[in-house]
Amino acid sequence: MIIQLEKNCSLTEKEATLSYLKSLKFSITEVKTQSGDYLVCIGKSEFDIRNIGNLPGVSDVHIVSDNYKLVSKKWKVKNTEINLGDNVIIGGNTPSIMAGPCSLESEEQMQKIITHLLKNNIKILRGGVFKPRSSPYAFRGAGIEGLKMMKQITEPHGIKIITEVMQVSQIEEMMPYVDVFQVGARNSQNFNLLDALGEIDKPVMIKRGISGTIEELLYSAEYVFSKGNEKLLLCERGIRTFETAYRNTFDINAIQVLKEKSHLPVIADPSHGVGIRDYVAKLALASLISGADGVIYEVHEKPEEAISDGQQTLNFFESDQLNSKINLLKAVNVFT
Ligand code: PEP
Ligand code: MN
Repeated sequence: MIIQLEKNCSLTEKEATLSYLKSLKFSITEVKTQSGDYLVCIGKSEFDIRNIGNLPGVSDVHIVSDNYKLVSKKWKVKNTEINLGDNVIIGGNTPSIMAGPCSLESEEQMQKIITHLLKNNIKILRGGVFKPRSSPYAFRGAGIEGLKMMKQITEPHGIKIITEVMQVSQIEEMMPYVDVFQVGARNSQNFNLLDALGEIDKPVMIKRGISGTIEELLYSAEYVFSKGNEKLLLCERGIRTFETAYRNTFDINAIQVLKEKSHLPVIADPSHGVGIRDYVAKLALASLISGADGVIYEVHEKPEEAISDGQQTLNFFESDQLNSKINLLKAVNVFT
């Protein structure tokens, strides 16, 4: 059960509600986010919901039978929209496009990418500066200095930045330069990181774990929300299966399931989802048609020279073509 408290609920009213709930043997978690105060109650008691709804200071009560609560659509039917400022909204009527290289490499690379994004009216740049790599000998990212440079180049154009945070200690230094923190697949269940991201007021996109279930992804989002941050995005990026014909099995089913189970925006990452350049654009289109609120994909002037993930990275021409197709679909109202 989720209880929403009124904005002006007094301490005495809250204490009275808490003591009533305790008498019903509920275990209660108090949650305070940017948008509201909630009491998340776990328990099996028989009770009359009207007795709770009528308590002073309570604005609404919802029975949520899902195991995850705050991210469930059972209590919040309206989809969550995330406003990044400058009219960049994720989860609204038009799909959000996030594009850029796997890794930030150089200032020259950034300038070229920005020109490409502007040409295609893409408002969100992706690019890793802290890179989780399977091999310790691979490029690990340009670090915080790279991120500062990225910000300097994007800011004059109103382009927003999504980039991966790998550990709690990086959050504070990254904060001024990031618009959306990305939690990578390998960190999808790093609960200390999720807790810490719950304490900030910046959007967080959580990727599905390498072998993560849909429910585990929703639980990860629940960690962040229950610590106080409801600005959340979910990302399907493929899972590891027995199939070896491609890097990951892109689970397009998950997009529809997540949209049905949660009010949070769902973003598809076909680049990591399949790992093969030739398939990325079609999967991006398929994801949007199946209801994703946006796509995040890798693009580079010369993918064959990219420092990481070149094999799944579109070149500028392929990315232009993908965006023309997305625009055609927009024009015939496929997404509204
Ligand atoms: C990335 O976005 O470049 C990345 C490393 O993604 P994932 O965590 O999905 O592997
Ligand atoms: Mn990558």
